[in-house]
Amino acid sequence: EAKANGRNNYQYFNQNMNVEVNRKCALTNDLSRAVEDKALEVYYQPQFNMQKKFIGMEALVRWNDPINGPIPPAEFIPMAEENGLILEIGQFVLETACRDVKELMNRGITDVKVAVNLSVRQFEENHLVEKVKKILEVTNLAPSMLTLEITENIAILDIADTISILEQMKSLGVQIAIDDFGTGYSSLSYLRTLPMDSVKLDRSFTTDLTADKKQATIVGAVIMMAHALELQVVGEGIETNEQMRFLEELGCDEFQGFLLGRPMPFADILELANQQ
Ligand code: C2E
Ligand code: MG
Ligand code: MG
Ligand code: MG
Repeated sequence: EAKANGRNNYQYFNQNMNVEVNRKCALTNDLSRAVEDKALEVYYQPQFNMQKKFIGMEALVRWNDPINGPIPPAEFIPMAEENGLILEIGQFVLETACRDVKELMNRGITDVKVAVNLSVRQFEENHLVEKVKKILEVTNLAPSMLTLEITENIAILDIADTISILEQMKSLGVQIAIDDFGTGYSSLSYLRTLPMDSVKLDRSFTTDLTADKKQATIVGAVIMMAHALELQVVGEGIETNEQMRFLEELGCDEFQGFLLGRPMPFADILELANQQ
């Protein structure tokens, strides 16, 4: 009985795995085509300072497949990292983001910066710094308008290489932020070793903030520590007024979340900027 059951479960499991593998394979092909056809888009989520001023935006790639519909980055970015497509996608997002901020500046909006997510794979690629430099030159954008977001996944790379690349970026005039800060193992040691300008508190900090007193204490301490190291702190994933109030009170410098603005097409960003 048990044995027969086990075998059935095994077959069932196996079939599910095949479905999953086939789906992934098909999606990979679709993604290659989407990249080729330039069918990916860049959305921007606005960021605000303590005075509620619109001061920045994070570039977030979007893939709306004509057949499968919108596919979340959490699903296709890991896939793109696996097969190397992330290099082309990363280049596209960086170029688009720089061109779009330049467009804002051309329209007289000079105080909205842009942040772009970088994948570890882009760090492994040769000439990342030269590529960034080239894009800034081609788009004629002041490097200080660009922030590059890295994650703790960077830990899998050689630390000396990482520091060297980040230092070169910083001497270009580009800013560095550490994303999803506080969830990994190495968060604290990174604050000491990597050249950085800001930390983005992981969304989980924001989520638990209002329900859990200890969590609020921890977030407050993290913000104080970041400030002592002369780093700016960005609160992410703000969905409620209460979360916003907590983060303000704890000294957070910049704010991002659905409460304040969803990721949106550049046309909507223009409108938002013009309203202010
Ligand atoms: P991330 O860099 O931490 O970006 C923030 C994510 O949180 C975005 O998800 C954003 O839509 C979402 N978010 C913002 N505010 C809220 C909120 O109030 N509540 C909730 N529940 N979510 C919020 P998205 O766009 O789905 O991207 C997910 C992740 O995919 C990003 O996390 C980033 O790691 C990666 N990603 C997105 N675009 C790119 C890209 O161009 N290059 C690379 N390498 N990774 C990207
Ligand atoms: Mg990010
Ligand atoms: Mg984040
Ligand atoms: Mg994330």
